[in-house]
Amino acid sequence: MNVPLVVTHFLDRAVSLYGDKTGVICDGKEITYKQLYERANQLSHGLKDLGVTKGDRVAYLAPNTLEMLEGFYGIFQLGAVMVPLNIRLKPDDYLFILNHSESKVLFVDQELYHLIVPIKNQLQTVETIIVHYKDEDTNEIAYDEWLAQYPTTAFERPDIDENDICSLLYTSGTTGKPKGVMLTHRNNYLHALVAMHHLRVSDRDNYLHVLPMFHVNGWGAPFYYTANGATQICLRKAVPEWIFNCIEKYKVSVMHMAPTVLNLLLQYYEQYKPSISHPVRVVIAGSAPPPAFVTRVEKELGWEFIQVYGMTESSPLSTVSTIRSHLGDLPLHEQYRMKAKAGHAMIGCEVKVVNEQGEEVPHDGKTIGELIVRSNGVMKGYWKNPEATMETIRNGWLYTGDMATVDQYGNIDIVDRKKDIIISGGENISSIEVEGVLYDHPAVLEAAVIAVPHKKWGETPHAFVVTRPGHHVTEQELIAFSREKLAHFKAITGVTFVDELPKTASGKIQKVHLRKEYWNTLGKAGRYV
Ligand code: ATP
Ligand code: MG
Repeated sequence: MNVPLVVTHFLDRAVSLYGDKTGVICDGKEITYKQLYERANQLSHGLKDLGVTKGDRVAYLAPNTLEMLEGFYGIFQLGAVMVPLNIRLKPDDYLFILNHSESKVLFVDQELYHLIVPIKNQLQTVETIIVHYKDEDTNEIAYDEWLAQYPTTAFERPDIDENDICSLLYTSGTTGKPKGVMLTHRNNYLHALVAMHHLRVSDRDNYLHVLPMFHVNGWGAPFYYTANGATQICLRKAVPEWIFNCIEKYKVSVMHMAPTVLNLLLQYYEQYKPSISHPVRVVIAGSAPPPAFVTRVEKELGWEFIQVYGMTESSPLSTVSTIRSHLGDLPLHEQYRMKAKAGHAMIGCEVKVVNEQGEEVPHDGKTIGELIVRSNGVMKGYWKNPEATMETIRNGWLYTGDMATVDQYGNIDIVDRKKDIIISGGENISSIEVEGVLYDHPAVLEAAVIAVPHKKWGETPHAFVVTRPGHHVTEQELIAFSREKLAHFKAITGVTFVDELPKTASGKIQKVHLRKEYWNTLGKAGRYV
């Protein structure tokens, strides 16, 4: 008989095999997997008492905390749907998501409660707000007191089908309004199995939650690190100093992070040389890490680097860069080059790069097409948005909106988002490639490249740059640098120096805002703004 693939099995496994092991460390507290299970039971009993039943949405607004982690399992045991909220949104965004998802209960961390206050009276479906670490100012329910009323005994779970929705994750909103992605238990379960294999997760791991759990990249970790009995350390903010402190204190072995955070970590390391007596076994990043990062992570820090590619709509991961043992005796620079690509389809995933007619492009490493994905991780659809679902999933394939090439070994290289590609004199230019070159300049801390209008070429690349503290570089110097390193048609034609770049909570640069800003200065409406 088939066993339904329901994610609560992951915590059950951790309790039976690793019950007395430290499961979670957070804000100075340490709890075992058995205690995590008991707290999740209390949470399920409590939610049931509030009238939450199978299929109801329960929203969560918190940084990486123990409460968030127990929230996962407390909600899933009930067959309810978790709606994790990005902590960097504005009150109006929360209003939109909470009403759109029709959430019934909202858990919120005290630090973030002020974001809910202005919209409280406009919430249409939220009946209860529960605040962690409540202070005197709020009259909401205080989490700890509320939880303590309920028994730690096993919660009687309803029948949960593997195709029931488990989570409603809103996309990052990098390109527009976030969309609610319905992931089923089966999606999350099979994605976790695949990820734990490729990332070689084991009970010897100490995993540092750097990527936020509310974002899809960090979202999967509580499944696969729990299932394997790894110790999970929660970090509220991705501050380089805190990350290095945790690595040292808790002997962290593995972390996932956005390239922008990895960049800050490298910069901190170069400046302060914090002591790391325990080697990190691997660091995993997605969202277009420039090749220069790979080399620096491996050479300077001595950590293995794995690049992954994914999107919320596919749970998220679909490809993984070739890992060290598979690279054999390739010279190091060649290994770094390989790892700078998004890599091969993960087990159980099929990926293809297709042209506008839907035909596969040649595997020549240079013909660009759209990446499409078919896997067990692909979402059930967008919540209350069948048109967008039909547009995105066609004939069983997920159209990612990302442009890529594929080489003779099946290696996928993400060129750019469809909307970010620069079309200059009929040639496609990858903004990622140009940014990669700029990152090689010693004065550049962060760079983002967008298309700007050009009389002769249609469009040309323009860079927004944040310089490293204490360094100086001029626009002309950066243009010359890019002309030296790139084919001339790909070189930047202008630079705007800024103090910081607009980013999503997971650290992605929001080029849509840069485009808007640029086009505003021209007094026109441009493309993709
Ligand atoms: P929205 O869909 O709301 O605009 P988003 O696409 O940023 O936001 P996510 O699902 O968090 O939301 O991100 C997925 C996207 O991140 C991918 O479609 C791709 O553009 C980018 N990405 C992820 N991994 C990589 C990678 N390894 N290399 C290049 N780009 C990547
Ligand atoms: Mg997207």
